[in-house]
Amino acid sequence: MTNQRIYLDHSASTPVDERVVEAMLPYFRETYGNPTSVHRYGQEAEAALERARQTVADILNCQPREVIFTSCGSESDNLAIRGAALAARQAGKDVHLITQPLEHSAVTNTVKQLTEVFGFASTFLPVDNDGQVSPETLRSHIDGKTAVISLMTANNEIGTILPIADLAGVAHEMGAVFHTDAVQAAGQVDLDVQKSGVDLLSISAHKFYGPKGVGALYVREGTIMLPIQTGGSHENGLRSGTQNVPLIVGLAKALEIATSEREQHVAHYTGLRDLLIEAILTRMPNARLTGSRTERLPSHASFAFKDIDANTLLMQLDMKGIAASSGSACKTGNPTPSEVLLAIGLDDSWALGGLRLSVGRQTTDQDIAKVMEVLPDAVAAARQLWIGT
Ligand code: PLP
Repeated sequence: MTNQRIYLDHSASTPVDERVVEAMLPYFRETYGNPTSVHRYGQEAEAALERARQTVADILNCQPREVIFTSCGSESDNLAIRGAALAARQAGKDVHLITQPLEHSAVTNTVKQLTEVFGFASTFLPVDNDGQVSPETLRSHIDGKTAVISLMTANNEIGTILPIADLAGVAHEMGAVFHTDAVQAAGQVDLDVQKSGVDLLSISAHKFYGPKGVGALYVREGTIMLPIQTGGSHENGLRSGTQNVPLIVGLAKALEIATSEREQHVAHYTGLRDLLIEAILTRMPNARLTGSRTERLPSHASFAFKDIDANTLLMQLDMKGIAASSGSACKTGNPTPSEVLLAIGLDDSWALGGLRLSVGRQTTDQDIAKVMEVLPDAVAAARQLWIGT
């Protein structure tokens, strides 16, 4: 073993691209005005903000005024769902919301709170063993009251990509607003909102080599929304608060780079991902792929191992210099199975043993070879320590 560390957790966060750091620096150092101020400092900051908005709009293929900057992907999801749900209720409607159990907690917990605390009706759609939601399933659960539907572009834990254009089409046939959490997809999947037809789309910069703590929400013109954070009516009245200009500049630069280099990165990721999947499934008994084999994020390989606690495995891997993640949370030494893995039909003996390996721009074939040297022993050690469900 060398001491070189291998980072395979790009779905959790990516390093910031050096070109993004360079683009942001002047907005910490020199151009620090408040973009709403009338003087030159303010005007320069506002110009940078609007250039960033234009860049994002060009990539999403929308108008700049349809881009709302937020503090993260979670806030973007919250604003989309709460904003559209509250506006529908304000219009006097009895509101029904639809999502699915595999969404990020920024979506599921928002829908749960709207249901349990604020009395909205909601449906969590059934998913298949790959974590797919079909347009037919969606259609059969929409009723006359369905106002907002939120279904993710790509899953963070199992990598499955949903047929968003078809799902948005069904939502629109039935008169509902369609939101997609594209946080994992950005940089790897086409985000053109005219092609997909979505009304609301969330992204977060730290998933595509930008800084943490900044996101964006696309809001299609004409979508009726209420703000969830009120104040000075920044961001087209939908998100009050002085904009974080350096981070917004960073988000736009990172998205621009990720989009212009997408083909090359996607080819690189796909090769590494397929190497990993092939090696693990052929060489490791008691391992299964989770999520779709074909409709899958290029950077994302995820597995379940029978009769292990993923947290033990992650510690074993970390000791060998490999950073990965799982879907199950460890609360005071008491492991809980991944809800996502349970929802796609795995039982506890598998759902505690989820492993996500997500590759990135710096990942090499040698890194994958190193993982394959280390992983079988790490899984065996974790299985020895397994105390059962
Ligand atoms: N949605 C998905 C699918 C994610 O994977 C994440 C982060 O892991 C988020 C939302 C939340 O983004 P942020 O960390 O910017 O709040």
